Amino acid sequence: MQHRIIVLGAGYTGAIAAGRLAKRLHREDVAITLVNAEPDFVERVRMHQLATGQDLKPRPFSEMFAGTGVELRLAKVTGVDVDRKTVTVVDANGAGVITPESGAEELPYDTLVYALGSGWNDQAVPGAAEHAYEIASRPGALRLRERLARLGAGQTVVVVGGGLTGLEAATEIAEARPDLDVVLASGGGLGDWLSPKGREHLRKVFGRLGITVHEHTTVTGVEADRVVTADGTAIPAAVTVWTTGFAVHPIAKATALEVNGAGQIVVDGTMRSVSHPDVYAIGDAAMAMGPGNKPLRMSCASGTPAAWQAADAIAARLTGGKLPHAPIRYFNQCISLGRNEGLIQYVTADDRAVRAVLTGRLAAVYKELVCKSAAWGVANPTLGLPTRRRRVTPGSAVKEPA
Ligand SMILES: Cc1cc2nc3c(=O)[nH]c(=O)nc-3n(C[C@H](O)[C@H](O)[C@H](O)COP(=O)(O)OP(=O)(O)OC[C@H]3O[C@@H](n4cnc5c(N)ncnc54)[C@H](O)[C@@H]3O)c2cc1C
Repeated sequence: MQHRIIVLGAGYTGAIAAGRLAKRLHREDVAITLVNAEPDFVERVRMHQLATGQDLKPRPFSEMFAGTGVELRLAKVTGVDVDRKTVTVVDANGAGVITPESGAEELPYDTLVYALGSGWNDQAVPGAAEHAYEIASRPGALRLRERLARLGAGQTVVVVGGGLTGLEAATEIAEARPDLDVVLASGGGLGDWLSPKGREHLRKVFGRLGITVHEHTTVTGVEADRVVTADGTAIPAAVTVWTTGFAVHPIAKATALEVNGAGQIVVDGTMRSVSHPDVYAIGDAAMAMGPGNKPLRMSCASGTPAAWQAADAIAARLTGGKLPHAPIRYFNQCISLGRNEGLIQYVTADDRAVRAVLTGRLAAVYKELVCKSAAWGVANPTLGLPTRRRRVTPGSAVKEPA
């Protein structure tokens, strides 16, 4: 009898975990199913590029997983029952897959890897859901792309949120459309977590691109043609782009899994759920502790090693091997500032800025390499190193205490 592993979500982390498990485990012993709502791998880290009219390389999963032994299931996950160990899916268009009565299909699992990622977080600010655009997803980025293309010279785009995504979005739009007025509204100071050199570089690039920055500004309302700030100021906005962080999908919260306040599944150092040992969670959907006992930030930077860790831990537990403990740490924050500029801010293991930065054209090239290697790493989940597929030990230690 094969051990059934279901991986939910084929973003950076789910796709890596599924591919790596397939390289680690003997094909006769496991059935690995990867469930995803879309047929192509989405390079989420490039959504600001997609929104500004750049075309991204298509990456169909049918090619990526051909011959790997991973079965790709194109479907939308609607629920997980961790007591019955089943996942409910409907087809990717929302219609029922198999049973006409229920309109849904149940997939049973022995081990579940939950990697459904996150979407945008409108933070319940009035008007944001109705009027703002988002770039956390491909449909969102395509909607913004279409809207930006229709904007005329001199119209204003307000990017709300001064985090990494907001910085990348504002500079990308300003560079691609110098005829528009681009405004950034940031709750804190511009790049206030960066080193002095990093902040200085950011100001220089924002100035050169003509981006107006409203610092220490909280947007409390979004209307069709403006945003309103906490002190009652109205900033005209033909388009508002909302980038104030990500929110995880509500599916995990609706299960018996232990989750944190944000709905992320709480996991141990092997990415295994602390409440349900046959469930693993990785990427944006997981709450894992990193260096300095700080929760890992939603990022590919920490999600990728977390996916390696989960796959290797599952493989070790199933084959009676030694549990790996991949160190997960940060090295740098790589920020694109348009296509020709960038900022690489070096950080401590727990993600605090140090003095060193890389800027300019070299930083842009570095960031491009990072994005390329992130996508390469999805298609090459063992980093291209040869591996030996191991046999699953009957009655293996899936239930051993974490
Ligand atoms: C514009 C932008 C720039 C970024 N830049 C960086 C960066 O420079 N560096 C960095 O480290 N991070 C960056 N990030 C963050 C990074 O993209 C995420 O942290 C990362 O994608 C998380 O990986 P994941 O596998 O958890 O989720 P995702 O990559 O979001 O993948 C989730 C997958 O699950 C699928 N899915 C979701 N719901 C369902 C469902 N109900 N049924 C079936 N399938 C479903 C989705 O289609 C998707 O394929 C950026 C994000 C954005 C939006």
